[in-house]
Amino acid sequence: MNTASPKVGIVSLGCAKTLVDSERILTRLRAEGYEIASTYQGADVVIVNTCGFLDSARAESLEAIGEAIAENGQVIVTGCLGGDEAAIRALHPTVLAVSGPQKYQAVVEAVHAAVPPPHGPWESLVPPAGLHLTPPHYAYLKIAEGCDKSCSFCIIPALRGRQESRPIAEVLGEAERLAEAGVRELLVIAQDTGAYGSDLGHAPGVWRDKERRADLIGLAEALGELGLWIRMHYVYPYPQLDRLIPLMAEGAILPYIDIPFQHASPKVLRAMRRPANQDGMLERLAEWRRLVPDLTVRSTFIVGFPGETDEDFEHLLQWLEAAELDRVGCFKYENVQGAGANALPDHVPEEVKEERHQRFTEAARQIADRRAAAKVGQVVMAIIDEVDEEGAIGRTTADSPDVDGAVFLEGETELSPGDLIAVEVDAAEDYDLWGHPVGPPQ
Ligand code: SF4
Repeated sequence: MNTASPKVGIVSLGCAKTLVDSERILTRLRAEGYEIASTYQGADVVIVNTCGFLDSARAESLEAIGEAIAENGQVIVTGCLGGDEAAIRALHPTVLAVSGPQKYQAVVEAVHAAVPPPHGPWESLVPPAGLHLTPPHYAYLKIAEGCDKSCSFCIIPALRGRQESRPIAEVLGEAERLAEAGVRELLVIAQDTGAYGSDLGHAPGVWRDKERRADLIGLAEALGELGLWIRMHYVYPYPQLDRLIPLMAEGAILPYIDIPFQHASPKVLRAMRRPANQDGMLERLAEWRRLVPDLTVRSTFIVGFPGETDEDFEHLLQWLEAAELDRVGCFKYENVQGAGANALPDHVPEEVKEERHQRFTEAARQIADRRAAAKVGQVVMAIIDEVDEEGAIGRTTADSPDVDGAVFLEGETELSPGDLIAVEVDAAEDYDLWGHPVGPPQ
C-alpha cells in the first residue's frame, strides 16, 4: 500500500493579499493531510495563485501558468486572473480548473479531483496559528476582503467584490494565536484597511472579556495589547486616520503608516476618483510628525495617468518634496482590462511616462537618502530577518518586509531571526542603514 501523502505545490504571484489567500489554501490542504512541495517535480499538482491587476501582471501570471504546465502538467489556477477563465483557457487549454480570488473551496475541490486526499485524523498536523509562507517571526493579518471604493484605474471591486470585513473577535483571536506561535510582527492588510468594519456597521465583538469596536481604531487599540510590532498598511487617507497617531505616540502600534496617495494634483485625483485634498494632507503630515517625530510614512503613486499634464506632474513633484515621504513606490500608469480609466481622454505617451517615472523615483530616492542620513548616530529598534556567516540583516520600525529598506549588522552572527534589538546607526545610503547593536536582543 502506498502510504505517501499527496503533495501540492503553490506559486503565489502578486501582492501580500494574494499571499494570505495562498496561506489559507495551504492551511486547509495541510489539515486534510496533503504535504507541501517546494519544487515542480516534487508536486502531484500545482496551484498557481495569480494576480490580474495590471496588464503586465496578467502577462506574468499567464507566463507562470505556462511554466507550471511545462514543468509539472497538473495545474490549477486561482486568484485575480482566475476571474477571466476564457483568457486563461485560450492560452492554456490543459489547466485542470480555474477559479477567481478567495474561492478557497473551489481550489480545494479541484485539488481533491486531481489528487484525492488521504484518510486519517490529519487536523493535528496544522499548528493552531495556521500555515504561513512568511518567516515565523512575522505574519500578515488580513482583516477584510474586497473594496467599496471605485478608483477609476482599479478593478479590485469587480474582481474581489464589495468589502467584507472579518468580525473583530475573529481577527483578534487569529492575532493572539500568531503571537502565541512566536510571531513578533503583524502586518495589518486589506484593500482599504481604514474602512475596516464599515460593512459590519462597526459591530463590536468581545475579546479578552472586553467589548471591541470593529473599526480601525478599535482594532489598533486591541492589537496594541499584544506587545507585538503592529504595522498598518493600505490606509486610505480618511480623517479618522489622525486617531491612530496617539496610539503610535504611546507605542501601542509602530510609528509607520502606509497611505497610497497615488497623486497630488486635485485634477488627476478627481479623475482617479480619489480624495483630492492633498494640500490639507501636508498640514496633517506636519502635525503627525510633531506628535510622533520618528513617524515613517510610506506611499505609492501612479505617474502618467490619463490627462496628467506637465503642470500636474510638477505639482506632484513639489508636493512630494513638501511632504518628505520616507518610503515611496512609483508605478507608470497602465490600462487594466475593465477599468474605467481606459476610456479617459489624453493618454500619456510611453516615453513621457518613462521620463516622469525616472524623475519621480530619483526625487523620492533623494528624500529617502536625506531622511536616512539624519538617522546616523541615532539608536533605532530593529527586528532581525536573516543571519548568515557575514552578519545579521534586519529591519527598523521604518521598514516593512519586501517593500522597504534593511539595516545591516556586520559580524553579528550570534543573533537569531525574530530578535528585537536596539541598533546605533553608523551609516546610511538611500533606503538602507548600517549599524551595531547596543545592548542584548529581546
Ligand atoms: S481603494 Fe481604490 S485602488 Fe484600493 S482596492 Fe479599492 S478601488 Fe482599488
